Amino acid sequence: MPPIRAVLFDWGDTLFASPDAAHAIVEAADERGVHVTYADARALWDEIWAAGKTPQELARGRDLSPDLHRAAWTSLFERAHRLAPGLAPELYRRVMSQERWVPYSDTEPTLRALRARGVKVGVVSNVPRELVTIFEGRGLGGLVDAFTHSYEVGAEKPDPRIFLAACEKLAVPPDLALMVGDHAVADGGAVAAGLRFLHLDGEVPVGGQRGLTAVLAVVDASRSGG
Ligand SMILES: [Mg+2]
Repeated sequence: MPPIRAVLFDWGDTLFASPDAAHAIVEAADERGVHVTYADARALWDEIWAAGKTPQELARGRDLSPDLHRAAWTSLFERAHRLAPGLAPELYRRVMSQERWVPYSDTEPTLRALRARGVKVGVVSNVPRELVTIFEGRGLGGLVDAFTHSYEVGAEKPDPRIFLAACEKLAVPPDLALMVGDHAVADGGAVAAGLRFLHLDGEVPVGGQRGLTAVLAVVDASRSGG
C-alpha cells in the first residue's frame, strides 16, 4: 500500500465529544419542574441515539439542511415527552448546538502530529453548518487544511461523492487518503470511494482520549511499507 498523504476525519464523536446529553435532559426537565433521574435520562438518551443511527433514519436526508436536521432530531427527541412533555425543542437546542461540543484530549496532539509528518488534514462532515468557526473557537483553526460539508457537496456520507470532493480539495488521490470516523456505515462509505478507512468504535465522554494515536500508527505503518 502506498504511503498515506492525507487523513480525513469525521467531526462528531471522532474529533469532538458531544455534551453530556443525559445531564442536559435532567437539567431541562428540572427547569420544567419534572424530576428525572440521571439513570432514566441516560437510558432515554441511549434509546434516542440508537434510533438516530438506523439506516432508515439516515435516509431521511437530515444533514442536507439545518431545517431538516432540526425536524428529524426534534421528532426523535419527542421520546423524552414520556418523561417531560414538550421537552424536545429545548433538548435539540442544548444537545445539538455545535458550540457545546468539546474536542477530545488527543484531538489537538494528533492533528499537530499529522502536520509535523507533512500529512494533510481534512474534516468531512454531515453537520449542516460550517465547522471552521467551531474549530477556531477551540484554538484548532489552523490545524485543518480543508472542510468538506454535505450541504455544500449536495451528498451526505456514506455517498462516495463527499469523500471524493474532500480528496479533491486536498489535491490527494483517494487511494492515498485515510478516512477516520466512529460510524461504520456513514464514514465507512469512504471505502467505496477508494479510500482507506479506520473505524473508531464506541463512545468516549467529554474530556476523554478518543484513541486517535491509532491514526498515527496507521499512517506510520503505511510509510514504512507495513
Ligand atoms: Mg461521527
